[in-house]
Amino acid sequence: MHECIFCKIVSGQIPSPRVFEDEHVIAVRDINPQAPVHVLLLPKKHIASILDVRDSDSGLLGRIAGVAAQVARQEGIAERGFRLLTNTGPEGGQAVAHLHFHLLGGRRMGWPPG
Ligand code: AMP
Ligand code: ZN
Repeated sequence: MHECIFCKIVSGQIPSPRVFEDEHVIAVRDINPQAPVHVLLLPKKHIASILDVRDSDSGLLGRIAGVAAQVARQEGIAERGFRLLTNTGPEGGQAVAHLHFHLLGGRRMGWPPG
């Protein structure tokens, strides 16, 4: 998986300051932010997308949800509200094939998404 840019962020080959890190999950700031707060939450292990999540990953997914809430509080957007999403596949707008969740906040989000 050495070609995967998010695996390179996990390993430190691509330097990216951590907003959060534990044994299984990291959170980093998006390099091209789409909102005043734009953090990416990703599992350290390479999972290509939500389509590749197994039952045995349920703990990991639950952990990511908890980390998202913690980072939202840390970033001061928990009360105002925010969006947490994962793009999947070409029509979903997924550019990096390593599962990640976008935590977006600090401005009003549009609906439906474009
Ligand atoms: P997606 O389109 O859902 O696959 O999202 C990929 C996201 O990764 C985009 O929002 C990019 O701006 C972001 N991104 C790409 N390279 C980096 C990097 N080196 N550090 C932080 N974010 C990145
Ligand atoms: Zn990867």
